[in-house]
Amino acid sequence: MKRVESELITNVEELLEDKKIGFFMGYENGSLPLRTSPCFVKEKEDVQRLVWNCFCTNNLSVYLVSLIPELPAGTKVGILCKGCDSRSLVNLIVEKQLKREDVLIMGISCSGMINIDKLTGNLDGGRILEVEENEEEVILKLDTGEQRFSRKDSLYESCKNCTHPTPSVYDILIRVGEHAPKSVCPDPMIAKFRQKERLERWQIFERELSRCVRCYACRNACPNCYCKECFAEQTKPRWFGLSNELSDVLFYHLVRILHQAGRCVDCGACVRACPEKVDLRLFTRMLVDEVKERFDYEPGLSPNDSHLLGVFSTDDTQEFMVEVD
Ligand code: SF4
Ligand code: SF4
Ligand code: SF4
Repeated sequence: MKRVESELITNVEELLEDKKIGFFMGYENGSLPLRTSPCFVKEKEDVQRLVWNCFCTNNLSVYLVSLIPELPAGTKVGILCKGCDSRSLVNLIVEKQLKREDVLIMGISCSGMINIDKLTGNLDGGRILEVEENEEEVILKLDTGEQRFSRKDSLYESCKNCTHPTPSVYDILIRVGEHAPKSVCPDPMIAKFRQKERLERWQIFERELSRCVRCYACRNACPNCYCKECFAEQTKPRWFGLSNELSDVLFYHLVRILHQAGRCVDCGACVRACPEKVDLRLFTRMLVDEVKERFDYEPGLSPNDSHLLGVFSTDDTQEFMVEVD
């Protein structure tokens, strides 16, 4: 990863020096082991803080819509984008929340992000001193010795089933191995869920969401949730109660999930943000598969795409809209 970090740092230094960008967003080491935080760089001397590793999980495009209007007019923002992040960013352009010329996309081909719980949950004890990674393994150096984890087995579910690890839209691309796009095939775990009877699916939905404490972290982590006033907090009209009653919780989630149709890129940011570990992906990934199956559409692949919900075709397999004779 040192090669990637030095390529990243050199690129950002040059871009700031040549005034091609006024600001850069990437990652820096967090205050805890195995964690990174978003890193906002304005000055050349701060560039050395940037890191790249298998814990750079945040989808940084979530900051763009609120950040750009705060910057001096004409400031171009550089942003480090994994495949999924770039799709979120492109989605924001398609939805006219962002102008392509306001951002410089530094794409990075991604080998997948590691689910920290899968490492810490299997630690034999000891304090983490250092972490190494390669395409096969994540190696934790502890004060009690060394522990090795298979990278493939430790990935987040969204990364195991990622279809676009390399951004399809970028200005500069940093290559980390070869990660060609894969065709969307239904996620096996989700396919199993879809096969269940309707009532059983509803029971799972209720069971999963009964843990929700309505902190809205899932909404705040999602780049698609940029409304200045969210329906969840609106008072005129108030769409639903503010309690933690299951009916209120379900209403919030049903609306949030439906708002993701044709927009969710399965980045997993909402799942990672949830303090209660609600498996939100069970529902949003189902939408991703459904949208692909019905409309052959994947969001965020080109800024020139039309929004799925903004077009209509009589060929759409929308049995609820086009009556079959
Ligand atoms: S979903 Fe794909 S691009 Fe995004 S972090 Fe996982 S592997 Fe990387
Ligand atoms: S709903 Fe979740 S997985 Fe989908 S784009 Fe938003 S944060 Fe990413
Ligand atoms: S992050 Fe989790 S607990 Fe918070 S509102 Fe979303 S599902 Fe509920």
